[in-house]
Amino acid sequence: MVAGQQQQVLPWLLQPLSQALATARSHALLVQGPAGVGQFDLALQLAQAWLCEAHPADSAERPGPACGHCASCLLFQSHTHPDFQLLLPDALRETLGWAQESEAGKDGEPKASKTKPSREIKIDAVRAMLGFTQVTSARGRAKVVVVYPAEALNNVAANALLKTLEEPGGLLRFVLASNSPEGLLPTIRSRCQPLPLGLPAQAPALQWLSEQGVDGAEVLLMAAGGRPQEAKDWFEAGLRAQAWQQLPQRLARGEAAALADWPLPRAIDALQRLCHDLLRRSHGAPPSYFAAECLPSPKLSAPLHGWEAVLRRAARHAEHPLNAGLLMESLFAQGRQALMEATPRRG
Ligand SMILES: [Zn+2]
Repeated sequence: MVAGQQQQVLPWLLQPLSQALATARSHALLVQGPAGVGQFDLALQLAQAWLCEAHPADSAERPGPACGHCASCLLFQSHTHPDFQLLLPDALRETLGWAQESEAGKDGEPKASKTKPSREIKIDAVRAMLGFTQVTSARGRAKVVVVYPAEALNNVAANALLKTLEEPGGLLRFVLASNSPEGLLPTIRSRCQPLPLGLPAQAPALQWLSEQGVDGAEVLLMAAGGRPQEAKDWFEAGLRAQAWQQLPQRLARGEAAALADWPLPRAIDALQRLCHDLLRRSHGAPPSYFAAECLPSPKLSAPLHGWEAVLRRAARHAEHPLNAGLLMESLFAQGRQALMEATPRRG
């Protein structure tokens, strides 16, 4: 999303958004669900709706979705709303379109440091946010803090947040969004009203993907386990439906070149999905990520379990491979071998 553009609500979030606005009782909500289905978007939509000035402030009615064109909505969309704070790890700011809020100098100079942007939300960011929570609301409507992903709060930062989460001041509201709520401190979870967000129905997800220019949306949505934002990410990273459908056959031929252009973690992820589906086939279950007609039909699961363990180990070290090309070749060779052993010839 580009700052200043009006946000379109993801179509499958309309219903969860209305429901959340109608049922939010707590001053702290925890939007939770699998990655790639829009928790962050839902958190922003909630924040914008609470800040929106289209409805009278003293209205007894619960607010509806944000209007998108009042003064508050315009400030929100240009990322300059004085009553809104967003806590994100630096590593996500650019991807999520909030890069200009990073710790650039006041004169716009980027920080001189060349250290890798952090994947954590650190105590300094929480302290700055706590300062924000103590000042009066600038526009008098609400004050909202969004934290995403909440599991990125390191322990010190999470502990610093606890007290404010428990007793937020009058107009203050929190939305935490998380892909893995089990990674949160229990004390954080217990202070929030949970808002579960599941996988969207296929029809609105496919429609959104084709509106985003994603070809082969049906194949890619299945490849992404039903998570539309992940399907779009994969498409933008160069994955095409045909290449995905050919992957099982290329594994059977040991062609590691099939994934040579991919970053290693993503390539290993793809092989893990393939292995998962081959295992399901070996048990007679329908596949999750590949169309059944693209898959071989292994009969034995034991060799595939061996490959699964190899892939899991590789995934743990995927960020720091010694030699990505060699590793891929080895994973393909072992996968091919496992597939052959799992598919004994008759006679
Ligand atoms: Zn508005």
